[in-house]
Amino acid sequence: CGIVGYVGDQRPNGRPLEVVMGGLARLEYRGYDSAGVALVTPGGHELTFAKKAGKLSNLTAELEERPLPDATAAIGHTRWATHGAPNDVNAHPHLSEDGTLAVIHNGIVENFALLRAELAAAGVTFRSETDTEVVAHLVAAAYGETGDLTDAVRTVARRLHGTFTVLAVHADRPDTVVGARHDSPLVVGLGDGENFLGSDVAAFIAYTKEAMELGQDQVVTITPDSVDVVDFDGEHVEPKRYTVDWDA
Ligand code: GLU
Repeated sequence: CGIVGYVGDQRPNGRPLEVVMGGLARLEYRGYDSAGVALVTPGGHELTFAKKAGKLSNLTAELEERPLPDATAAIGHTRWATHGAPNDVNAHPHLSEDGTLAVIHNGIVENFALLRAELAAAGVTFRSETDTEVVAHLVAAAYGETGDLTDAVRTVARRLHGTFTVLAVHADRPDTVVGARHDSPLVVGLGDGENFLGSDVAAFIAYTKEAMELGQDQVVTITPDSVDVVDFDGEHVEPKRYTVDWDA
């Protein structure tokens, strides 16, 4: 299973999707049963996605059949199912009810049943059988209150038990990907006018060797020109930069 995130405004024409699909291909060695992507269009206000059970080639075929518009922010996921069968619906991304927010997740949300019951009681309709879908609805609700995607991911991350690397994108934020981690890896790749996230450096090594490793319980926000890291209390963190010393 693997995770890739990308923001960039320098090279239009679908490149973010290309970067994310390439990253997922490089993470294939980790094993997976489904794959998916979510994109935010340059002007914002449109989030699109595609997801398919089976090999990455199934997703590629789906994208050829139904091409997605150009993007400035993109996230990609390969799933190793823990909760819910490996089918198209349970594949990631998982979206908010209004379709403006998408999340991907590697790991397990141990307390998902409790969170799901709470959301269902509040009237949320679930589409999948995954533990992950609660994260989409919780982040959407938190974002609805403050309009701050980083803070929404951070406050929800505090409520999750288990292990997770989570990425989120929102239709209103065409230049932003937010990630959080707890007992699961997340690495930042530093580009020029573009930045990357990956569950390991293989996700972006074809584009940059400059990286930052996130610590336990941290939240990162990438835009084309910035990388900001906070801990789960919202305190600013200065992550360690390093150069990856292996060949792509
Ligand atoms: N627990 C999540 C699911 O079953 C994520 C699995 C993974 O790590 O890919 O959908």
